Amino acid sequence: MSAVEGTPFVDRRATRAVIDLDAFANNVRLVRSRLAPRVDLMAVVKANAYGHGARLIARTAIEAGASDLGVATVSEGVQLRRFGITAPILILGSITSEEAELALRFDLTVTIADDLALAAVARAARGIGGTQPAAIQLKVDSGMRRFGASPEQALALAATIAADPHLSLSGIFSHFASADDPMATSTREQGERFRALLNEMTERRLTPHRIHIANSAAMLTATDRHENLVRSGIALYGLQPSPRVPLFSGMRPVMGLRSQVARVFSLAAGDAVGYGGTYRAETAGRAALIPIGYADGYRRGLSNRGWMAADGWRLPVIGRVSMDQTIVAIPPEASLTVGSGVSVMATDPDDLAPTADTIADLLETISYEIVAGISARVPRHFMRGGNVVAIESIETGLVEFS
Ligand SMILES: *Cc1c(COP(=O)(O)O)cnc(C)c1O
Repeated sequence: MSAVEGTPFVDRRATRAVIDLDAFANNVRLVRSRLAPRVDLMAVVKANAYGHGARLIARTAIEAGASDLGVATVSEGVQLRRFGITAPILILGSITSEEAELALRFDLTVTIADDLALAAVARAARGIGGTQPAAIQLKVDSGMRRFGASPEQALALAATIAADPHLSLSGIFSHFASADDPMATSTREQGERFRALLNEMTERRLTPHRIHIANSAAMLTATDRHENLVRSGIALYGLQPSPRVPLFSGMRPVMGLRSQVARVFSLAAGDAVGYGGTYRAETAGRAALIPIGYADGYRRGLSNRGWMAADGWRLPVIGRVSMDQTIVAIPPEASLTVGSGVSVMATDPDDLAPTADTIADLLETISYEIVAGISARVPRHFMRGGNVVAIESIETGLVEFS
C-alpha cells in the first residue's frame, strides 16, 4: 500500500462552515410548537440543505419533529435513502422519464404536473410491480407560472391516477410566488384558486391525504394557508424569507463561516493589492491573507466591499476576491498573527462579521443564494453541545465522531 493510500485524512482546512445542529433542532422545534397539531412539517433539504449538509440536517430535522423531507432532485433523495433516512421524501421538482424508475425503487415520492411525466411514472410502477402502489403528488400552478398543472389538468391527472392500481395520489400542492411580501395580493388569489380546486376534488372524491401550499414565508405569516402540511426551508436554517417576514422568536442562524489568517504582510503607501490593483493603500499598514475565495462561495462581488472580523475588529476586504484567496486590511490596533481565527460570516449578533443577510444585501441578492452557494470545497463542521461531532468534506465524505 502506498503512503497516500495508507494515510487517513480528515479535512483540517482553515476555511470551514460551522453548522450548529443544536440551533437547527431548536428552530425545528420552535416551528413545530407554532403549528396546529393536524399540520405536518416538511423540512426542505434540497441543494445540500441550502448548503448546510443534507444528511445530518435531514436526520436532525426528523429527530426534532419534522415528518417529511423535501428535495429538488432524485439524486438528492437517493443520497438521503442511502444514509438510512426512512421518512417520506418528496421530490419537489420535475424529473425525466429516465429517472422515474430509480425514484420509485428508492421509495421517493415524485411530483407530477403533466401527462408525459405521469405516463413515465406509471410505466416505471408497472415495471417494478411492487406490492404497494407508487406514491405520487400533483403540483398545481395556482398563479406562479413556473412548475405545475393548470387546475383543469390537475383534475384530469388526479382521475387518471385514481384509475391506475399501480399508483396512489398521496398529495397535492402548489407554491406561492410572493408570500415573502405581506402586501402582495397574489398570495390571497393563489390561495383561493388552490382552495377552489380542492373543493372540486372533494366533490369528485379525489382529495389526497397531503395538501400543502405554504413555504417558510407563508408558514410564518399566513396560518390560514397551512392546510395540513407546511414546507419550510429557509426559516429552519434561521434566516428570514425576506426583511418583511420575521422569524418566530428564538430562531437563530445555523451556518457560520470561519477561517484563519494564513499570512500577515505590510503594505507601503501606494501599494496596489490583488488582481487589477483595484485597491491602493493610502498609508502604510498591514494586511492579512485569508484562504477563501469565490470558488468557496465567497463571492467576487465582495471585492473592496465585504469585511470579516477578528479579535473585536472589522477587517475590510481590500482588492479583488480571487478564486482561493482574499486580502483584508488589519487595523493598526489589532494583534493578528498567522493562525488567528477569523469570522467570515456571523451567526451571532455580537460577532462583527456580516451575517448571511448582510452579505446578501451587499450583493443585492437573498440569503438563500449565499448559503446555498458555499461550495463543496468548504468542509462542514457539525456542532452539537459545543463539540464538533462530524466533518464533511469532498475527500472524506461525511465522517462522524463518536
Ligand atoms: C424550495 C421550496 C420550498 C422552501 O422554500 P423556503 O422559502 O425556503 O421555505 C417550498 N416549496 C417548494 C416547492 C420549493 O421548491
